[in-house]
Amino acid sequence: MRLYHLSLTNFRNYIRLELDFPARLTLLQGGNAQGKSNLLEAIHYLATGRALQAEAERELVNWLALEDPLPYARVAADIIDDHQSKRLEITLMPANGSGRPLNFRKQVRINGIARRALDLVGNLRVVLFVPQDIELIAGPPARRRHYLDVALCQMSRAYCRALAGYSQVLAQRNALLRALQERGITSTRSSDQEQLRFWNEQLVEHGALLMTERQRFISNLDIEARVCHRQLTGGREHLQLYYVPSFDPSRRPAMNGQLPLALGYKEAMLAPFPSPVEIAEVFADHLRALYQRELTLGTTLVGPHRDDLRFMVANRDLRLYGSRGQQRTAALALKLAEVQVMTRETGEPPILLLDDVMSELDATRRQMLLKTLDNITQAIITTTDWDDFTPAFRAQARLLRVSDGKIEEVSPGEV
Ligand code: ATP
Ligand code: MG
Repeated sequence: MRLYHLSLTNFRNYIRLELDFPARLTLLQGGNAQGKSNLLEAIHYLATGRALQAEAERELVNWLALEDPLPYARVAADIIDDHQSKRLEITLMPANGSGRPLNFRKQVRINGIARRALDLVGNLRVVLFVPQDIELIAGPPARRRHYLDVALCQMSRAYCRALAGYSQVLAQRNALLRALQERGITSTRSSDQEQLRFWNEQLVEHGALLMTERQRFISNLDIEARVCHRQLTGGREHLQLYYVPSFDPSRRPAMNGQLPLALGYKEAMLAPFPSPVEIAEVFADHLRALYQRELTLGTTLVGPHRDDLRFMVANRDLRLYGSRGQQRTAALALKLAEVQVMTRETGEPPILLLDDVMSELDATRRQMLLKTLDNITQAIITTTDWDDFTPAFRAQARLLRVSDGKIEEVSPGEV
């Protein structure tokens, strides 16, 4: 799979862009605030269907274009996948009846045919490296769940569908619990009970699939990340990753209404992970055990929406005890491991997007990252400074310069 053309209209600070990509390396240089990250964000958006930073799709639409009578933005990519060319396209248009400030809705097309957003994901697979990756280690659990979802959705259609289903059911279930809470009903009417039972069934079914896939992915990541991490630290430190689901899927709850304890490190390592059917049963038991408590609080207290992922060095949690340098190293090992796992799972390497990460790394880490590029089909790399790369490296790449949302090719002699 390879990206050979990108076309942007009113996306962030790109009013209009038509850009070809070479088979292997593209190096994009520009000063601050010229459009480096925005370009990678556009590619990432097509790969994942999700905006990187933006809270609303409106933020992706060029500010000037927002003043147009019929504002819109478009991101389109031509890719070759399995010897077939495909055109992936997202258009953002004002939602019907939307007042100012406008809400935008996404319209997805593949080869010109309208498709669901779900169908987009997985066509173009990317792994993005950004300086903020350290937040994967140091940040809140939601950041890590988002990371798992973005990676897993690109690899597995089934995961993506289950995630969409789970999120939808969770929202409905929470709405029902809130309504019951507001009405102050503790022993609820039978129609409410029936509805809740319906949501529970769906929740545990989708939830069990998410947990199974997360566990599998994390244990694969763990194996690869250990190797990368050992190389990055010259064998001095040993990284371990483990999955911390919101409840222990191999143990029935004590029906006392207490929240389940987070799975300890040793337990997580030792216990074999149960089958999806068994997970679903234990999940359902937890919902039963927490029933009164969920009614009082008006929200769903267990499930994959409360999962976490933990990074350990020498039996210490890096999020709590790691130095910034250790956290940065673990984040890099995680990303390098993700590239390996994705390559193995899908049979081909993802496209690497490196956003200004070289300047942050010391010589060893830089070298490790550049070595990964040997096994990669295509990489798009941004930098503020050409000197982050050796002339020999630059000679292998197509060199581009971005300034105020416009991109021009430069020759090696000019940099
Ligand atoms: P840095 O080196 O600081 O990371 P960058 O080249 O990566 O810079 P980008 O993040 O790509 O910069 O942003 C480029 C510019 O695009 C910024 O000035 C930003 O304010 C602007 N921008 C962001 N969203 C929009 C939008 N919707 N419309 C117009 N401009 C936008
Ligand atoms: Mg940037």
